Amino acid sequence: MPAATASWWHRPAARSERMARTRRPEPCPCGGPTLAACCAPLLAGKTLAGDAETLMRSRYSAYATGNAEYLLATWHPTTRPQRIDFEAGCKWIGLTVQAHRRLDDDHAEVAFVARYRIGGRAYRLTEDSRFERVDGCWYYVDGRVAAD
Ligand SMILES: [Zn+2]
Repeated sequence: MPAATASWWHRPAARSERMARTRRPEPCPCGGPTLAACCAPLLAGKTLAGDAETLMRSRYSAYATGNAEYLLATWHPTTRPQRIDFEAGCKWIGLTVQAHRRLDDDHAEVAFVARYRIGGRAYRLTEDSRFERVDGCWYYVDGRVAAD
């Protein structure tokens, strides 16, 4: 009898989860409605970020999806690292943009909080990052990370 009870309540749950997945696509890692309607065209190089906040969001999504190529391509040539090593077991779980300051036509700052989890522990990264537009393209320059 206990075995029958378990299968009775496990099966409908699994089925409804599957249906939810096919009906509603995954939200974009940056918090947008869906990846396809939000950061995917940027990550694929099909569109350019129109402002620093959009670039910042797409770079967060690149971290969340492990897209090192996009991170390097959107890094300012003067501060770009040789390569990107993703922290093993790090899962990005949420982004909150706190401020987007346009300093002039080609310079902007974006303050954000990114949340991630490593080995079951949750962390917050609070950063004030600088962006510069060169030949119409926005690039990430650098950031001041605030200690939590
Ligand atoms: Zn997005």
